[in-house]
Amino acid sequence: MTTTASPQIKSTNIKFQDLFDLEEIQIVQDAFAKATGVASIITDTDGRPITKPSNFCSLCRDIIRETEKGLNNCMCSDAVLGQGNPNGPTMQPCLSGGLWDGGASIMVGDKHIANWLIGQVRNEEQDEEGMLAYAREIGADEEAFRLALAEVNIMSTEQFSNVCQALFVMAKQMSTLAYQNVLHARIIDERDEVEKALRESEEKFRLLLNSTAEGLYGLDTEGKCTFCNPACLDILGYVSEADLLGKNIHKLIHHHRLDGTEYPEEECKVYLAFIKGEGVHVDNEVFWRADGSHFDAEYFSYPMHMEEKVVGSVVTFYDISERKKVQTALIEAKKTAEESNSAKSDFLANISHEIRTPLTVFMGAIEHLMEIDKDPVCREVLDLANISSRRLNVLLNEILDHSKIESRQMDLEEETFKVRKCLNETIYMMTDRARSKHLKLVLDVSPLVPEIMLGDPFRLGQILLNLIGNAIKFTDGGEVTVRAERQGDYLRFSVIDAGIGIDEDKLEEIFLSFRQVDNSSTRRHGGAGLGLAISKGLIELMGGHIFVHSVLGLGSVFSFTLPIKT
Ligand code: ADP
Repeated sequence: MTTTASPQIKSTNIKFQDLFDLEEIQIVQDAFAKATGVASIITDTDGRPITKPSNFCSLCRDIIRETEKGLNNCMCSDAVLGQGNPNGPTMQPCLSGGLWDGGASIMVGDKHIANWLIGQVRNEEQDEEGMLAYAREIGADEEAFRLALAEVNIMSTEQFSNVCQALFVMAKQMSTLAYQNVLHARIIDERDEVEKALRESEEKFRLLLNSTAEGLYGLDTEGKCTFCNPACLDILGYVSEADLLGKNIHKLIHHHRLDGTEYPEEECKVYLAFIKGEGVHVDNEVFWRADGSHFDAEYFSYPMHMEEKVVGSVVTFYDISERKKVQTALIEAKKTAEESNSAKSDFLANISHEIRTPLTVFMGAIEHLMEIDKDPVCREVLDLANISSRRLNVLLNEILDHSKIESRQMDLEEETFKVRKCLNETIYMMTDRARSKHLKLVLDVSPLVPEIMLGDPFRLGQILLNLIGNAIKFTDGGEVTVRAERQGDYLRFSVIDAGIGIDEDKLEEIFLSFRQVDNSSTRRHGGAGLGLAISKGLIELMGGHIFVHSVLGLGSVFSFTLPIKT
């Protein structure tokens, strides 16, 4: 028996029509009715016909059911016959007219879904007079009733019982089939849902693959391509996925190194992802395009797992040729800048040396003349020459120091020295200058500062002289304090003034060479803008840091740290 099984069936709403092909069922029902001589129909559990009636007799169809009372009685009889009975067929005389009727239930598991009804036969014992009395009772035409009754198939009770048994066996078979169909439909339902979910997740995956700009491909553990995205094809110059899928990717795009030597598959770093199960990042290799050209590639290869087993790797890559070009250009530019900087420093060192020799001679001559020439007019000229030559000497020293720091040729001494003595001597050297500006110079050394330390006292003094010199230069009244304190493994020196202060946005640039906050004040105060750059360079060479805190109009604090070495 052919059946249909609709995947839409849900257990709450199982219908006979959804489980069976009604045309085929009609053929079976008609054949059964014809072969056995009984009338037959299949109804739902409410008595509504599902199939067309087969072999219905004229007595029931045209006479009894045509009267109101007869139809009512028929329906009552069918309702009793239609009650579910999974254990056997039901057999009873019709409550309307008394012909024999039978029925069998069609079930799906516990659910009663339909009835197969048969009947409309009489046996020899049935009393014709009694039946004619029934015709009168329901108001049917007695003569027509008698003629139709004569046409009703006559069957022994035993034979009808056999037919009912056969009906029951067939209905049972249909129940089993219906049950299998429901199960089958459910399996199809579930499979469809899984397939739908799979399709949706594949669609998402594809969308993701298609919308990334980086090339992406998957490898199985033999190095064969399992998937790739459009960017991958584009970057590598292939037309369709078929050009890569199932192919050994190493042999296609990774076969040689940049220097032209062969890149054996067993050394391929992409494979480390599934050989060692680790993520790999490489940015110094090349990939080869379909047309034989190559490009600098950066790639990541990560293992792909399935049920905790490594099944391959997923590779993401970019063409970084442009980035590499920029990097190379930057390295070149840096090298050139360093070379020219070093040439400049050498030049400055040479030239300042060349200038210093005659300058020393001038300074000696001026001093000599000052000693012997007491003429007041000449004296004024000689004083000016003396000051200028000393300034030039300071400038030369600064240029020399600066170029040594820049070309990393500054050598620092490392000797044991007395910290307090160094500080006192520095303060002493600046006392006159402070006094000339009516400034008080205060030294404040914490008792925690060690007595002796390992380092370069001359360069420490040079840094302090520069900071104190600036403080005096840019302060017009009050005091300048020099403080030394211990901070863990470091000494912290601070020079505090109540001078003109520095604008916040200029604070960083004052440490650059030849930078000054205000050129007009420099002309007034002197200086070439090298002192802080040299100090910073020396402090960093000694392993320390310099800091500034300043408020315009209120004053500045320059402080620096040096590691305590003993
Ligand atoms: P210069 O020899 O010209 O003083 P520096 O490198 O020592 O060069 O200082 C750079 C600039 O920083 C100075 O010209 C000045 O503008 C500013 N500066 C440095 N110290 C102070 C300070 N204590 N108060 C105000 N401005 C300062």
